Amino acid sequence: MTRLVLVTNDDGYDAPGIHALIEAVQPLGQLVVVAPDREQSAASHAITLDRPLRVYRADEGRYRINGTPSDCVHLGITHFTGGRLPDLVVSGINRGLNVGDDVTYSGTVAGAFEGTLLNVPSIAFSAEIDNEGRSDFSRAGGLVRSIAQRVLGHGLQRGVLLNVNFPAGDYRGIRVTRQGTRSYRATAFEREDPSGRPYYWIAGMDMTPTGEPDGDHLAIREGFVSITPLQVNLTHEPSLEDLSRWDLEAG
Ligand code: MN
Repeated sequence: MTRLVLVTNDDGYDAPGIHALIEAVQPLGQLVVVAPDREQSAASHAITLDRPLRVYRADEGRYRINGTPSDCVHLGITHFTGGRLPDLVVSGINRGLNVGDDVTYSGTVAGAFEGTLLNVPSIAFSAEIDNEGRSDFSRAGGLVRSIAQRVLGHGLQRGVLLNVNFPAGDYRGIRVTRQGTRSYRATAFEREDPSGRPYYWIAGMDMTPTGEPDGDHLAIREGFVSITPLQVNLTHEPSLEDLSRWDLEAG
């Protein structure tokens, strides 16, 4: 049976990254593309509950939605794959890395989270922006395809997704990594609007890369493609016992 692959992103349907992703996974099976109609970067795992979602069919098996990446994957799986669970969800290729703390904000990674929650093996792909402000998506294509192919063949453990990041410049190899810790210092600018009232603009520009030897940041900084297995369940196991000893009922 032909494999069914659901494709989404957070940079929007017209972004070059998703077209590179489509091209890369096209040979793997039948594609259904469901993507936001505009940029949804940093949408995280939001789903839309308070307004109707509209779907614009762009082509055979291609849909654009006025919603988030998670909306796209959710609607894709429930309505646009002909009642069949896809064999794979791929999200990206994002313009810009999703490493360290980016992961919790990322709409690209959330698209893969949503696929995982709905029991479909899922992968998020992101590419670093180089010094000229460009992301070279085409170069990632071969590895995108081979990683996707491997996941199609082997599957992933339940509740686990892959977060893949491509460095700018030549690839020195592939490294399996952990999600790094904080990468941005809290930054927000205060300005004044024309009527003299202050407004604020959050911009996480101030990157402080962390140097965990097996972390995603370091792999990218050293020119390696980074593959991080992430889990949907966020429970911190070691704290369970600690907390149960707090004796909270005693007041
Ligand atoms: Mn994005």
